[in-house]
Amino acid sequence: MKNYITHHDWKIIEEGFHPFENEVTESLLSIGNGRMGQRGNFEEKFSGHTLQGSYIAGVWFPDKTRVGWWKNGYPDYFAKVINATNWIGIYLTIDGEEIDLNTAKIISFYRELDMQTGLLSRNSTIEISGGKHLKISSERFCSLAQDELGVIKYDVTALNFSGNLKVEFLLDGTIKNKDANHGELFWEELNQSSHTYGAELTLQTKKSPWATVPQFQICTAMAFDVYQDSEKLDFESSENSKEKYVSRTVSLEIKENKELSFYKYAVNLSSENHGISSFTLVAQNILSISKSMGYEALKAAHAAAWEKSWSRNDIKIEGDTAAQQGIRFNIFHLIQTYTGADARLNIGPKGFTGEKYGGVTYWDTEAYCIPFYLAAADASVARNLLVYRHNHLQKAIENATKLGFKNGAALYPMVTMNGEECHNEWEITFEEIHRNGAIAYAIYDYVNYTGDKAYIADFGAEVLIGISRFWAQRVNWSKEKEKYVMLGVTGPNEYENNVNNNFYTNYLAVWVLKYTLEVLKTLNENARLEIFNKTNFEKEAETKLWQDIIKKMYFPYDEKLGVYLQQDGFLDKELISAADITEHRPINQKWSWDRILRSCFIKQADVLQGFYFFEDDFSEEELQKNFDFYEPMTVHESSLSPCVHSILACKLGKTEKAYEMYVRTARLDLDDYNNDTEDGLHITSMAGTWMSLVKGFGGFRVKDGVVHIDPFLPEQWKSISFRVGVRGALLEVNLKKEQIHIKNLTEVPIKVVVKGIENIISAHAEFLV
Ligand code: BGC
Repeated sequence: MKNYITHHDWKIIEEGFHPFENEVTESLLSIGNGRMGQRGNFEEKFSGHTLQGSYIAGVWFPDKTRVGWWKNGYPDYFAKVINATNWIGIYLTIDGEEIDLNTAKIISFYRELDMQTGLLSRNSTIEISGGKHLKISSERFCSLAQDELGVIKYDVTALNFSGNLKVEFLLDGTIKNKDANHGELFWEELNQSSHTYGAELTLQTKKSPWATVPQFQICTAMAFDVYQDSEKLDFESSENSKEKYVSRTVSLEIKENKELSFYKYAVNLSSENHGISSFTLVAQNILSISKSMGYEALKAAHAAAWEKSWSRNDIKIEGDTAAQQGIRFNIFHLIQTYTGADARLNIGPKGFTGEKYGGVTYWDTEAYCIPFYLAAADASVARNLLVYRHNHLQKAIENATKLGFKNGAALYPMVTMNGEECHNEWEITFEEIHRNGAIAYAIYDYVNYTGDKAYIADFGAEVLIGISRFWAQRVNWSKEKEKYVMLGVTGPNEYENNVNNNFYTNYLAVWVLKYTLEVLKTLNENARLEIFNKTNFEKEAETKLWQDIIKKMYFPYDEKLGVYLQQDGFLDKELISAADITEHRPINQKWSWDRILRSCFIKQADVLQGFYFFEDDFSEEELQKNFDFYEPMTVHESSLSPCVHSILACKLGKTEKAYEMYVRTARLDLDDYNNDTEDGLHITSMAGTWMSLVKGFGGFRVKDGVVHIDPFLPEQWKSISFRVGVRGALLEVNLKKEQIHIKNLTEVPIKVVVKGIENIISAHAEFLV
């Protein structure tokens, strides 16, 4: 764990430079707007610990897989959103000395990310040779108001000298992906140009010899201005050009105590949104509008967009700054990652803050992110996430066919960009077929929450049939047990692979079959016929088989302990508590894989994931027993783990555990709990943080369109308040230990049940308990 980020309600602050943590800080200070993302790198040259990272949504490369041996069904490539042109670079040379922030002496240093306004800024004074002191202040943002634009204000003052300053404004496409499987470069140059006041660089992803996927083109264009003491200067600049790199350098006299200010405007376009032939026109148009608006007006528009977003999504916690900073940090990054405007995009586990997990889609979206977007955004956003999977249905059927399934059975990939399976570590993800169930569960979640039943007929039923067919073929009849069993799977706990009868997976499979049969019944005759025809659904035979599986599925259970077993062999393990691990953690960085697989230690909620999804199927006593059995063995080394445990602990009234787990999920990256924040932030688990607050402490649920609130506040919190949108209504919920206050901010009346008391809150009315 680390503890160098200052606690503050709205800001992420690093006081004094922490060079060895720089990659962690870069992740924490990432900025983005759903269309692009930028790590908190320095503008200047920096030869120390850094991962220079600029990413553009939807632009990826099929990196050849590193799997040492190949079997039928293994993917050929690992898709990744690739590191794109560095647009922030501003390199300085003073009297012939090139400034490297890593070797310059730091006299003072402060940087902050203001989450309220989406601004990243830095104030620093450095000393270079000859005892020259230089003050540098910078501020930048990826505009939320114009999502193809990034802007930097960069101020330099010579504190005790006068001399020559060269400022190089650059666009650098020679960038490498840190996680490239074979150290390959993914970009080739299409063209570049430059002129006194700017430059443009267009790149294209290389053609892949092993995958038939589209090549992407990106265009990055920049323009810059120079001011001295608020007065615009006219200047000359010279070009520096090499392959995939173009810059313009301005040479100036820098006078003691006179501030020079530079403004760099950068546009990032991708062929996903523009024809390549229009790149220059579009880029120049955005640049000229931006320059004429000027930095302050652009910043104001950006801050106003953030203000609007916060007015809908902010959560306030009174009485606990660390917890407050944590939840805002999580919401801030979720909004920066996915705005929901584009159904082709999804939410990578690290968003645009790093390269691990390659910015691709996992089950995280359905199991963790959907609930956040359902409550925090318009219903169309969650719908877009579901449609994304519907668009991949054919690929999921092909994927299942490759593995030997038939008749339209669909297995969605564990890791994907375009619907094809592209995981990097077959031994973990290959058998994690539970992801298929999460995709079905998200349909249920969405329809239950929004009431959009038409979704089932339009898209959902087809997906559910494909997934159900997969489960029906994946189980087999055990003569010995006289039950259906499911062999050779990996549950959510990735610290056990290839196990038999993972309770969660078995339970989920049965649930999907039941749910599919249920929703098929609700369709009107025409819609049903259409779907049956489209999917060649053999009503009698398939329904009969599914019902049989529902009735006769095997769930491993231990009578003596009164718990469901994570898998058949779980009780053969040496059962010890994670608290008794005396060695350094996380175990996934310290132990051999062999040792981890044999241990009882659980990476993340597994049986308990089932208790979370299907809470109404189990009694409180069952939950208590299973929680008390599994949680102590859980090491929470997946970011997705603490949030689920926090929600369940709230249900059980386990105050301390709920709070401990909340802090762990909310501050997972801020305090670097799992020693991996340098790889990027845990974006998908940030939605889990939101859930642990709203669903856990807020006790918020939506059941058939009815809102339920049953709060439980930790000792140190005076109050929490949040806004949730449900079925057209927007509710402001304010929870104190002794009082629950709900305001309906819309015209739409809504039914709420607060601690069992039912009420309809009409337009703009309030409800106080
Ligand atoms: C977790 C998976 C998750 C993946 C991406 C892994 O560490 O175990 O459940 O899907 O990270 O977030």
